[in-house]
Amino acid sequence: MAEPSLDALIDALRRLPGVGVKSAQRMAFHLLQHDREGAQRLAASLQAAVNHVRHCERCHTFTESAVCSTCLDASRDSRILCVVETPADQAALERTGSYRGMYFVLMGRLSPLDGVGARDIGLLQLIERATDGSVEEVIVATNFTAEGEATAHVVSEALKARGLRVTRLARGVPIGSELEYVDLGTIAHALVDRR
Ligand SMILES: [Zn+2]
Repeated sequence: MAEPSLDALIDALRRLPGVGVKSAQRMAFHLLQHDREGAQRLAASLQAAVNHVRHCERCHTFTESAVCSTCLDASRDSRILCVVETPADQAALERTGSYRGMYFVLMGRLSPLDGVGARDIGLLQLIERATDGSVEEVIVATNFTAEGEATAHVVSEALKARGLRVTRLARGVPIGSELEYVDLGTIAHALVDRR
């Protein structure tokens, strides 16, 4: 059976992480059979997001303005810069309520096997941001996975080489875990006990 539009939809859905051909078919059939209105909304919101969402010039997170609201928040402590892998990790730290500094979001982690290098995680932009004169301490809060640790090492060395004070979240966070899934109390302690 050759149904070009349907095949193209299934192909497009398969681009999502963790979605194989069977899940993609299930999603496509569901949308077309049971939720055409949802399908329209999905198409429109995808289009809008792709057109409007970009990276904050200061911290690299997703935003619809040149600079995000967190970076513009004058009540935050501009002397501390926390480096995280993803906006989800940033959100996890924010939920603890115990961090009031600034952020830099790598939007990924070093992963040489997948071809993700220093340029892809914005290392140069991070160095530029961290050496702008306002930052006194950089907290490296990448995940406690092998790739997160490797990223922390590279980031720390690069920043220390420029004379910056660099700390790492304390080890209360379980090894192999992603911040996004760690409970708030543990993250808050790891922040306080950083070294
Ligand atoms: Zn920002």
